[in-house]
Amino acid sequence: MIATVHAAWIAVGSELLGTERLDTNGLRVTALLRRHGVELRRKAVVGDSEDELVRELAATLGVYPLVLVSGGLGPTADDMTRDAVARATGLAMREEPAVVADIEAKFASIGRRMPDVNRRQAQVLAGAELLANPRGTAPGQRLQHRGSTLFLLPGPPRELEGMLESDLEPWLARHAPGGGIEAVVVKVACVPESEVEERIAPLYAEVGRERVTVLARPGEIRVELTASGEGAARAAELARLVTRARELLGPWVFTDRAELELEAVVGALLAEAGATVATAESCTGGLLAERLTAVAGSSAYFLGGAVAYADIVKERLLGVPAETLRDHGAVSEPVARALAAGAREVFAAGWGIGITGVAGPAGGSEEKPVGTVHLAVAAPDGETAHRLARFPGDRQRVRWQASQLALEMLRRELLRRAAPERAVAEAQEATR
Ligand code: ATP
Ligand code: MG
Repeated sequence: MIATVHAAWIAVGSELLGTERLDTNGLRVTALLRRHGVELRRKAVVGDSEDELVRELAATLGVYPLVLVSGGLGPTADDMTRDAVARATGLAMREEPAVVADIEAKFASIGRRMPDVNRRQAQVLAGAELLANPRGTAPGQRLQHRGSTLFLLPGPPRELEGMLESDLEPWLARHAPGGGIEAVVVKVACVPESEVEERIAPLYAEVGRERVTVLARPGEIRVELTASGEGAARAAELARLVTRARELLGPWVFTDRAELELEAVVGALLAEAGATVATAESCTGGLLAERLTAVAGSSAYFLGGAVAYADIVKERLLGVPAETLRDHGAVSEPVARALAAGAREVFAAGWGIGITGVAGPAGGSEEKPVGTVHLAVAAPDGETAHRLARFPGDRQRVRWQASQLALEMLRRELLRRAAPERAVAEAQEATR
């Protein structure tokens, strides 16, 4: 059931080491490998350097059953994949007249004569099988070396795609275990990565470290779980993994569907409860309202939001008392609470959310450094939850994390009221 063909991927091209271009070929090939149950174990990007490529080939040939190289098959001096393979394997190369004729014909068809440099593309490694490249000039090559099957594939994505379809895919269909590898994602918001890691640790022991990956982004942790094997067994295994992850992470988990964002989950909870919400935002400048309204159907529960940036607007528009602003400052718990209450009141909503903070880069103080944000969620029953956060990162990150925490606070409050029997467990777990 576990895949036994492991693969290594090597993308060749100095431009892929720069700041403008990504190795997207690698992603495409990874998806194809996964569909065939082949696990990618190693991935490298090397510049147009024969030495570097020889080094990478030496590290992969004879180690991985399948080694895939893309790029460097062109006609120019910086295309050295063929030469590097010859050096790394000790195999001889010869010019293949049929390939020369083919390239000459391709040039002739556009009314040109083949430049001499293109002869390089007709160099074939001893024992290699040629892979036709109708979308370009250089053929690919496939050969066996020290137990590895080595594919030399073109770099230009369109040419690569053609060859994946005509050569790699059929090869995988014959040699790969099949069944495919599939991943599911369990998502958690506003919990430190280390705490998720700690909670999920038993799963590493139960199913193996390589099948559980914890990925952190600001305000969100994704736990990726993978299973391989045939369709039904794989689906059952994935379902079991999700159940186990939910057991370990408890109500921290807001979804096990990769495509669902937190605002959509919160929206569904609001809709289910027949509840409404309104927002009063300072430092997030409407980001929370923007996220809530980005969800189709949000008009069922989102009533409106105010961007109350200046103190006078907090006061006049949302009824934050002038004394509160004066005594505590705009970035304070009482002001966040008053904003949340004001949002409920002004928009006649069941739930109100208030956010006030220092997004930076300026405006921080010793007492309230950049990243300090007060958030309040006022419930229909008159209770108000408050959190003081100190978010790391630049202005954008602080604002994003604040909107994320506001959504997560609302989610937890909704959940607590929807499922009171879970309240105790949640209160214990939602310590952060
Ligand atoms: P080949 O010799 O295999 O035909 P090449 O290396 O000679 O390819 P380049 O001119 O280096 O061709 O690259 C052609 C185009 O393909 C460039 O735009 C390059 O950025 C792109 N490319 C090459 N490798 C990759 C990759 N791994 N992922 C995405 N784009 C790539
Ligand atoms: Mg290149």
